[in-house]
Amino acid sequence: MSALQPSSGKSQAAPATTYDVVVVGAGFAGMYMLHRLRGLGFSVRVYEQGGDVGGTWYWNRYPGARCDVESMQYSYSFSDELQQEWDWSERYAPQPEILKYANHVADRFKLRSDIQLNTRVDRAVFDESANCWDVTTADGKRVNAKYVVLATGCLSNARMPDIKGLSEFKGKVYHTGHWPHEAVDFTGLRVGVIGTGSSAIQSVPVIAEQASQLTVFQRTPNFSIPARNAALTPEEREAFRAKYPEIRRFAREEARNGIYTDMPDRGALDDGDNERRSKYEARWARGGLTFMSVYNNLAIDKAANDTAADFVRQKIAEIVKDPETAKLLQPNNHPIGSKRICIDTDYFATFNRPNVKLVDIRSNPIEQISANAVRAGGKDYEVDALVLATGFDAMTGSVAKIDIRGRNGLTLNQKWAEGPKTYLGLMSAGFPNLFIITGPGSPSVLSNMIVSIEQHVDWIADCLAYMRNSGVDAMEARKEAEDKWVAHVNEVAHATLYPQANSWYMGANIPGKPQIFMPYIGGVGVYRQICNEVAANGYEGFAMEAAEERQKAAVS
Ligand code: NAP
Repeated sequence: MSALQPSSGKSQAAPATTYDVVVVGAGFAGMYMLHRLRGLGFSVRVYEQGGDVGGTWYWNRYPGARCDVESMQYSYSFSDELQQEWDWSERYAPQPEILKYANHVADRFKLRSDIQLNTRVDRAVFDESANCWDVTTADGKRVNAKYVVLATGCLSNARMPDIKGLSEFKGKVYHTGHWPHEAVDFTGLRVGVIGTGSSAIQSVPVIAEQASQLTVFQRTPNFSIPARNAALTPEEREAFRAKYPEIRRFAREEARNGIYTDMPDRGALDDGDNERRSKYEARWARGGLTFMSVYNNLAIDKAANDTAADFVRQKIAEIVKDPETAKLLQPNNHPIGSKRICIDTDYFATFNRPNVKLVDIRSNPIEQISANAVRAGGKDYEVDALVLATGFDAMTGSVAKIDIRGRNGLTLNQKWAEGPKTYLGLMSAGFPNLFIITGPGSPSVLSNMIVSIEQHVDWIADCLAYMRNSGVDAMEARKEAEDKWVAHVNEVAHATLYPQANSWYMGANIPGKPQIFMPYIGGVGVYRQICNEVAANGYEGFAMEAAEERQKAAVS
């Protein structure tokens, strides 16, 4: 039975409806959160700004969009029937298929009745006297909730570049993270793509096949490994399914990034040149993100990292026929893997096409956009349509768009002004009963997101059940525990090569954003163990108090 049933009839000033939990977002995190909480008898309302479920896969419909984690692993594990019955068609599922899967999950587990679509949450204010959250949606409606769970996604706040004249452009402008639902046909058009991250690297080869001329404006080249995508045969799917118990266990408990793969037993410099080269060749031929798992020290030892980076640079030089273009495409200002490695299908080979041109805007920055051209280095590149593959305000961007006010009216944006501060990535001191799924301070974007989502959802669901069963009605991260965790997250990151890159992990892609390495790099297995121990020790580091005690607690 629900702890708090939806009710009405309060005073005019108070919201009319009360839920146990408001969940913000109906992507993979929000949907599973709803499923778990319902199973525990909580009343839940999920608000989703999009027109349907699916989160990232609802918005990112750009040509060539597909997941860079293999389908058989980028899928829920909480239901064995689901994982046994759903047939993924390809090694890496294309966006429409992942969206279909999200919709299947929503229908199969009858989630839709508790999900309100086309509804943004604008504001959430903690009412210290009533010990609950007062949540306001964009249509001005307000509800009460004992708990709020932010399932807002890490790469969901698309970032428009601040380029002079962009609004003057007369053709169509698309952002990869906000792609229209209707088909976009570039046939016969001169297209400009700005940006060369994962989204561009996936879309450029597809757009090149349609466009009469494609101009790619590159500021920073990226490392990319071939996906080697292919149709999955029924035999391959069956082999995977038969091994699911071990694959899922390994992904949760042992893999650093939540992906099942063979683990390296040595560092790159422990092998001689020939041996090392043949291992890199084998991984290159196999394709995919696990390229970086060939050795155990690529993320921590620059000399070891250089061997992998050199290998990929060499591959680029072999693929791209024009030496000048090849040189421009070779990344040279960050260690391989310190920015999210990209996975492609024929990205580098696309620059051999006669209708594709690479423009280096590092040495010749874009000066302005006019009605029909992008001007860089004093030269006008005429285009009919523009694709902005310029990324996201990652990890904190979507949370920051909500006006969240905790104790004493402090906003989360004020608290996080110098960088996000959380305990375990799950809660932030001063914001009782507010949980974040895959937030900063957790492995999150460094992992197979569904593995991390399931872990967070299960932890939060178990925690809410514990609170209810123990008569505890408020939970809050203790400031000391949070400070210690933030320091630990920082310390672990700085033991690696990651902070050497100007990446979105560091907030470096957003002017003025504090430069802090946001995700926890300790690995999903280690992190899960820490979270489990915290729970087993009576939620160590969290203040869990009854109402009257909680009111006395002050966060300095
Ligand atoms: P991104 O990695 O942040 O790349 C953005 C690109 O736009 C960069 O090349 C950046 O250059 C450029 N850029 C930004 N502002 C610019 C400006 N004002 N002028 C010129 N260039 C500008 O974004 P993304 O490609 O959308 O990928 C983000 C993340 O989403 C990925 O790292 C990945 O985690 C995820 N993703 C995953 C998949 C997948 O599963 N296959 C696909 C797409 C995305 P600088 O590097 O110089 O800043």
